[in-house]
Amino acid sequence: MHEVFIAESLLETAVWKCKDSGFRRIKNIEVKIGKASAVSAEALIFNFDALKAGSIASEASLTIVEIPTTGRCKTCGGEFGVNKDFVFECPGCGSGSVIIESGNGVELTGLEVESV
Ligand SMILES: [Zn+2]
Repeated sequence: MHEVFIAESLLETAVWKCKDSGFRRIKNIEVKIGKASAVSAEALIFNFDALKAGSIASEASLTIVEIPTTGRCKTCGGEFGVNKDFVFECPGCGSGSVIIESGNGVELTGLEVESV
C-alpha cells in the first residue's frame, strides 16, 4: 500500500509530539495497525528506518501491534470481526451499511522519549 507516506506521517507526528513536550530524542514509537488496513508491517518498518536518519528519531525503533478490525451494522446493530480488506457486509443480515469501529488504518499509540 502506501507505507512510505504512512511512515512519513508517523515520523512527523512523533517528532512534533516529542518536541512539543520538550523532549530531545525518540527511543521507541508504538503503532497499531488494523488487520484489514492492508498495511504491511515489514514495509512500514523498512520505510521508517530509511526516513528516520538525521532526525531526532534516528535511534528510534518501531513497535507494531496488529489489532483486529471490527465493524458494526447500521441496519441490525450487530458487531463482527472483519478479516478481508474493505469487503464489508454484515454477516447477520447481509446489509452493506456497516461502519468500521476499530482497526481501520494506522494509529500512533505510544511514544518513548528521553530528555538528554
Ligand atoms: Zn446487519
